Amino acid sequence: MRITRVHSRVVDLPLPAPFHPAWARGRNQTNVLLVLVSVETDAGLIGHSAAHAGLEAAITVERFISPYWIGQDPTGVEPLSAVLRDAEILGPPAYFMEIALWDIIGKQAGLPVYKLWGGAQNQVAAYCATAELRSPEQRVEDIHLMLDQGYRAVKLRFHHDDVRRDLGVVEAIRKAVGNRIEIMIDANQAGIEPGLTAHRIWGFQRALAVARELEQLDVLWLEEPLPRYDYAGLARLREKLDGIKIAGGEDNHGIHEFKLLIDRGCFDILQPDALLSEGIFQLRKVAAMAEAAHLEIAPHTWGNGIGLLANLHLAASTPNCTWLEFPHDPPSGFTASSRDQMLRETLSIDAQGLVAVPDRPGFGFILDEDRISHYTVAEFG
Ligand SMILES: [Mg+2]
Repeated sequence: MRITRVHSRVVDLPLPAPFHPAWARGRNQTNVLLVLVSVETDAGLIGHSAAHAGLEAAITVERFISPYWIGQDPTGVEPLSAVLRDAEILGPPAYFMEIALWDIIGKQAGLPVYKLWGGAQNQVAAYCATAELRSPEQRVEDIHLMLDQGYRAVKLRFHHDDVRRDLGVVEAIRKAVGNRIEIMIDANQAGIEPGLTAHRIWGFQRALAVARELEQLDVLWLEEPLPRYDYAGLARLREKLDGIKIAGGEDNHGIHEFKLLIDRGCFDILQPDALLSEGIFQLRKVAAMAEAAHLEIAPHTWGNGIGLLANLHLAASTPNCTWLEFPHDPPSGFTASSRDQMLRETLSIDAQGLVAVPDRPGFGFILDEDRISHYTVAEFG
């Protein structure tokens, strides 16, 4: 089998309502922008993937990857991944491309990818990942709705200038529903969004003070409390806490960085993302290193349903995976249905808060081709 074509489409899908993600202060996000890549073969099998990115990713694929992939055997994931690693020297990361290879391999084998990789579980516990800042009253209302729908866990953002306001939201939820829901907190302190004034920077003392408050509120984890490369600070923070876990790693790149995070003792829970951090199979190596160090994996996901499905297969194949991130924050424009609008089916959770892995070969993407072609703004390959 040989790769015959790498076809990239930049797709600009609208959100149905305003969406104000807390990590990008001042932004009203109006769209889901992605680069959909379809890798075609002479066997007639086509593998898909999608970047959480725009034109820049499509150009990287066209310039630095396609010329080296076309004519190659798509089952040679390791040599083709080396091309992706080299491409990052010259362009934006394109690790998402590896997903298309495994989509082809799964289709050829007639098996879903998570079963090719050991099938640790066929459903994964999901947490509802929210993104907006809301009043305590509104969030309590949201949580009642989530519990009715089956969610057993929620992640909230801490981004107010006065952290007491953030803590007030958690206090209100605990008061209203007790321990009926697990709570995770994301501080997004690993970096700031380019070009935006972003949020207040915490520093070590604030991170520790917040974590100690959250311990009292029985919060499961605190995510990205400090800058991405503050290995010493993260390790020191983690050492001072025993009632709350420290999580992070969504924007770290390469297995070498994850090895450092593990060796330096930065996190209890690593959160690599199959679109952003490394190739999806390379992340299985990260998961194995984490397993040996008795750490958990909880893949990060944001942006689009294709990425969520890929991360779901990664989660389901990983024995030390505890939670799947499930982006959904109604009534804003970013919900499960807008997130998955490039697919024919919206991925959903069941009454126990679990997400079942589709049993279709490969990753089980069923593209909504009509919608995709309507919103395609550029094409390459
Ligand atoms: Mg995060």
